[in-house]
Amino acid sequence: MATLDLKRKLAILSDAAKYDASCASSGGAKRDSRGGKGVGSVDGGMGICHAYAPDGRCISLLKILLTNFCVYDCAYCVNRVSSNTPRARFSVEEVCDLTIGFYKRNYIEGLFLSSGIIRSADYTMEEMVRVARTLREVHDFRGYIHLKLIPEAAPALVNQAGLYADRVSINIELPRDESLAELAPEKNAGGIRKSMGAVRLGIDAGSEKGRKARPAKFAPAGQSTQMIVGADAASDGEILRRSETLYGAYQMRRVYYSAFSPIPDATARLPLARPPLLREHRLYQADWLMRFYGFARAEIVGEAEDLELDIDPKLAWALRHRGDFPLDLNIAEREQMLRVPGLGVRSVDRMLEVRRFKRLVLEDVRRLTRGIEKLKPFIVVADWTPGGLTDRADLREHVAPRQLDLF
Ligand code: SF4
Repeated sequence: MATLDLKRKLAILSDAAKYDASCASSGGAKRDSRGGKGVGSVDGGMGICHAYAPDGRCISLLKILLTNFCVYDCAYCVNRVSSNTPRARFSVEEVCDLTIGFYKRNYIEGLFLSSGIIRSADYTMEEMVRVARTLREVHDFRGYIHLKLIPEAAPALVNQAGLYADRVSINIELPRDESLAELAPEKNAGGIRKSMGAVRLGIDAGSEKGRKARPAKFAPAGQSTQMIVGADAASDGEILRRSETLYGAYQMRRVYYSAFSPIPDATARLPLARPPLLREHRLYQADWLMRFYGFARAEIVGEAEDLELDIDPKLAWALRHRGDFPLDLNIAEREQMLRVPGLGVRSVDRMLEVRRFKRLVLEDVRRLTRGIEKLKPFIVVADWTPGGLTDRADLREHVAPRQLDLF
């Protein structure tokens, strides 16, 4: 194989990494290089989720694969062994030099590193750990590192990865175990869950308060995962049920949904077209309802059902539960207010503050939200009651065209 220059490798391996959506960095531990020690910083809670583009744009995260060679043959992946795609491989030193070089030029704030499987899961994981260890120990790099874990790798290697990385992730890949067995025969759903469980135990142990002999911090920004949407026949209800389990059992920080993109020379078992992007968007909205708005999955969508594409899941829920509305915003509990379409966490918390001093009127609600018209059928305030508006047969048509925002 002809030797590729670094620029060409970067073009291939940053492009190959674009399919992985699970790279947000929120929740990283605060770490800096003030006082002249080390290189870089992580500002706690800062949300960065970008990647390096070959056209030279400055972005926050160098998002690359160590290599896109892969001995596995996952049918949905452009890097599978049977794919006819240009291949490249970085050395450990090249990844470290790129990360430090870009960091010092202020192009990036950290590294997201994934990889195809070369030789074996252990060998690949070892190489990735070597990148993170070299950055931390040789370059004293204090920026953000997200490592994609290889679930089939030895637990000791996974453990080392967690000690050097801020965040780790293992892709669950597909919502149904049987789809994974069919489309990614070298992968094992049980093994993936077992590795996620081991990561959770490591995170829990590293953050246990009051324990005298506390182990070293393990992936302080937690773990995340990604699910491909639309590669199999799983309904939105099934996808969200899987997410509910992942959040509950493995304390995932995030489940990312990635709409399946058709790849060249794909098997006939895969769909020809990608699912509508709106489907991915609705799944993210439903996911937010579960994580921040107190909704259980079963309230949002039945297991065999899909989310409605033309209205957001919170509005869909409210239209099915008109008996719970209108809600008096001057006396309602926070949990009830969070269920009103058009009210987000911030606006509800601001309203609760205002309520300590005065009764809310429509003008307060208008000031604290983005669209009063969508809200009006669902609320009562000191100078407004919707009368028969809430029960109008055409309420859906009345509010749906105005719903441009997420919530
Ligand atoms: S393991 Fe599967 S999904 Fe990952 S790079 Fe290889 S073929 Fe692609």
